[in-house]
Amino acid sequence: MRVHHGEAESKSALLDRRDWLWLMLGGVIGSGGAVTARSVQSPAQDTQSPAQDPLAPPQERGQHKPLPTPEAELAAVREKLDRAKIGPLTTVHSAHYLAIGDAPRAFMAITLADCEQLAADYQRYFDSLGFHVHQPDRPLIAVIFRDDRSFGKFFHLPPLFTAGVYVRATNALHVFDWKNVPMKPRASHLNMETLAHEAMHQLTFNTGLLNREGDIPRCIVEGLGTHAESRKTMGPSNLGRLNLMRMDDLAKKQKRVPWMPVRELITNDAVLRAGTASLTMDSREAARILLSYAQSWLLVYYLIKEPAALPRFRKYLQAIAPRDKSDRRIEDAQSHLGDLDQLDQELRRYAIRLQLSLR
Ligand SMILES: [Zn+2]
Repeated sequence: MRVHHGEAESKSALLDRRDWLWLMLGGVIGSGGAVTARSVQSPAQDTQSPAQDPLAPPQERGQHKPLPTPEAELAAVREKLDRAKIGPLTTVHSAHYLAIGDAPRAFMAITLADCEQLAADYQRYFDSLGFHVHQPDRPLIAVIFRDDRSFGKFFHLPPLFTAGVYVRATNALHVFDWKNVPMKPRASHLNMETLAHEAMHQLTFNTGLLNREGDIPRCIVEGLGTHAESRKTMGPSNLGRLNLMRMDDLAKKQKRVPWMPVRELITNDAVLRAGTASLTMDSREAARILLSYAQSWLLVYYLIKEPAALPRFRKYLQAIAPRDKSDRRIEDAQSHLGDLDQLDQELRRYAIRLQLSLR
């Protein structure tokens, strides 16, 4: 485990609590999904909105196999952008990515360079851990907006409500340039955190780690997404650095809402899904969502970082890959991760150990 005290300080200075909560609810760092709910004005009549749950498997969203070709994916994204009157559109290519959007070409090129770096870091990291990940078999689409207004217009969301979305059905990630949001400090950090989380979702679903069409417990999806959040704003970074913002939530949110037993975390996606579904939750509900994200981060961090747990986690991911229904989640988890009540106790202890390691 690598602990960076300097990083802890800079992270805590990054966002004040209000911003942090707001960002989390919006999915920047947490949900990875836009918030499209009852209070969103003019809910989408067409398909521009990521619907209630951008991270739902495609078939759950009424889409059926086979998955569209890369060309069809791009055409669909372009059509949605046109329909939302986003433009003028620019496209930029890189080795593994294709960017489209109304952001300036220079920003799109920088973002794609970051995507390529993330993908290289991802490959190196999971190779070194013994996971079988392959290069994406198609160009990955990044929709890049010039600012939050353009992004909000596309998703039918109020400005600055959410900042990053990966939509499992269209396979595209969506981000905008925080530097174009007035008075927003540390925009580069926000850009990188947003991109890292969403790009991680996209990579996990396109490299054989997770099945894009399968049933994956949401805590695993978000645990992996949050696993990538902590990185430098430039150049290569190791994945899996200690996520101090999640640790902060882990410590503080438990004062307001109870810890969710791991058995429930694995079977019940509702709380994590709610992070992408409601604009009108009260602060207690928000605390529950934030704690669920933090626990998801902890679960995956533990399963990857603890030498005894890592081989079990690899087998577990292989076991759940073919699942298309949620009816065997407990069975799969018990078979590979061990007794879930014991795991729960271990995670509680592990959380305390991590906190103590920062002192
Ligand atoms: Zn996410």
